[in-house]
Amino acid sequence: MHIGFLGLGNMGGPMARNLLKAGHSLTVFDPFPQAVAALVEAGARAADSPAAVAKAGVEVIITMLPTADHVKQVYRGKDGLLANIGPGVLLIDSSTIDPLSTREVAKYALAQGNPILDAPVSGGTGGAAAGTLTFMVGGPDSVFDQALPILSAMGKNIVHCGAAGNGQVAKIANNMLLGISMVGVAEAMALGVSLGMDAKVLAGIINTSSGRCWSSEVNNPFPGVLENAPASRGYSGGFGSDLMLKDLGLATEAARHARQPVALGAVAQQLYQTFSLQGNGGLDFSAIINLFRGEA
Ligand code: NAD
Repeated sequence: MHIGFLGLGNMGGPMARNLLKAGHSLTVFDPFPQAVAALVEAGARAADSPAAVAKAGVEVIITMLPTADHVKQVYRGKDGLLANIGPGVLLIDSSTIDPLSTREVAKYALAQGNPILDAPVSGGTGGAAAGTLTFMVGGPDSVFDQALPILSAMGKNIVHCGAAGNGQVAKIANNMLLGISMVGVAEAMALGVSLGMDAKVLAGIINTSSGRCWSSEVNNPFPGVLENAPASRGYSGGFGSDLMLKDLGLATEAARHARQPVALGAVAQQLYQTFSLQGNGGLDFSAIINLFRGEA
């Protein structure tokens, strides 16, 4: 299949490579020339704008962009995708953005005869490279079925979440809970250690008791508890605090539109905002524990 791919960053680059490995041909665009050159070396063709991708005779276009503003610009701009593709080309946006923007873009795509899915991912850069991402997909059943073989080349769990925008809803609800649970684990670990507990013993208790969660068990924020966690290598790698801040912002903003209270999500957002302001946005999001240990 001939696929267009826009946004060849930390996630999009390895995702595009997995499509090439699965035997698809790719036409790619990214304003960052080195990102394009790396994909061309791997066998893709380069285009010099979103419009050029749209006009390259592709059957499917995938976007993996930083924010909703980028997505709107790439889809709806003068030199963008929608103004330049023919009807029937399948569009898949895997960027993490707010559900309202997703639904707005979907409305314009559908009005001109282009099926479209939102398909944000979890699994991070490791999952993108290994082709084991989880895709949370919003859009009609028939379009989901059409996209399944393509998404399967980049991911392991492909979950249909319902109508357009629901992929983003699933993603931001999960990540809001992840942010809240990380702050909770950080607070509990810092409290226990400050009152004299050994961090490893405390983590062992939590992980065999009712406080257990992914943040305590797989990505424990206390240094030395888990040898392979970012906390034990200076909080490098992993999922950046600024990306968590972005996702918490999407969740609280979507909640505001829905008049839905997200009290703990808003607290977590403010804590990550404070942490980012202190210059820590590049650290793994488990480093938020330093706010509670007086080390931020
Ligand atoms: P990134 O900043 O590494 O990559 C984004 C890429 O988009 C860059 O190469 C940039 O040059 C390119 N770009 C910007 N404007 C463009 C345009 N007009 N046309 C084409 N390309 C353009 O970001 P990332 O880490 O790859 O994240 C991409 C998306 O995936 C974000 O929405 C992010 O929230 C989400 N996400 C990231 C992770 C992660 O661990 N990094 C995990 C899950 C989801």
